[in-house]
Amino acid sequence: MELLHFDGQIWRPPYEANSQLLQVTSGCTWRKCKFCSLYHGTDFRMSPMSEIEADLDVICRYQPEARRVFLTGANPFALSYGRLFRIAELIRRRLPWCESVGMFARITDIRPKTVDELRNLRHLRIDNVSIGTETGDDSVLARMNKGYTSSDIVEQCLKLEEAGIKYNLVYMTGLAGMGGCVAGAMRTAEVFNRLHPYIINIVSLTVFEQSELYAELRAGLFHEASERERLIELRTLIERLTVSATVLGNTVSNILPVVGFLPADKARLLGEIDEAIGKWDEDDMRRYREGIVSL
Ligand code: SF4
Repeated sequence: MELLHFDGQIWRPPYEANSQLLQVTSGCTWRKCKFCSLYHGTDFRMSPMSEIEADLDVICRYQPEARRVFLTGANPFALSYGRLFRIAELIRRRLPWCESVGMFARITDIRPKTVDELRNLRHLRIDNVSIGTETGDDSVLARMNKGYTSSDIVEQCLKLEEAGIKYNLVYMTGLAGMGGCVAGAMRTAEVFNRLHPYIINIVSLTVFEQSELYAELRAGLFHEASERERLIELRTLIERLTVSATVLGNTVSNILPVVGFLPADKARLLGEIDEAIGKWDEDDMRRYREGIVSL
């Protein structure tokens, strides 16, 4: 049996379920976000071009008409412009039906690339990236060691827009900790409203043992927001967003799944959240959170 090369943790967003996965990196270049345990124990590694070519040989045999390829690893967009260009060219040559290539990117991965370079990548069908922004609140970004500010988010996403690359932004409820979530949502709405995200992907903080935040939690240095506070935070964010975007909050970390289009579905989404705020019991919600064993 022919197997593709996959090392360590493989994670893709739910909306990439139908995409052909292709490993070009493993692990994360940053590994410093306090809440993160996703790539714990996996060192960052670039796949050699020979390995990528071998995987494309296999894909050509089993999925020759793949339309969308998702490059795996925490942030393959950290690869240099030249390397991404070569990978995208290779995909175009081997998978002529492929219309679209996506991957995860950190805000800091966009910075070294010029708009012209981004445009060239777009011409080679790298047309959509998912960015784990988590929040637009500068104090929370700094507290969680994300390695960039809200101004960086705006500056780098506007470069993607200029180059014609769509992007999805992640918002993580609960990340500000007890008492800070609503303010975090308000600040984030201000940041996101300056941009044109394609999807706003909602997740909610679930603290796992391998994360630095877990140690802070145990030491009493971080206090988790209640589930009710997170629902009010989510309501605040959605109410204040003026963008036209898909809202997708349907991962295991979302106690209340929220899926819709803004602005068309705003009233429905707010109604669903209000109902949960009014009816759902905090202890039940907490039990759900504690039952999550992996993301
Ligand atoms: S959240 Fe993303 S960027 Fe931060 S350490 Fe985890 S994988 Fe890396």
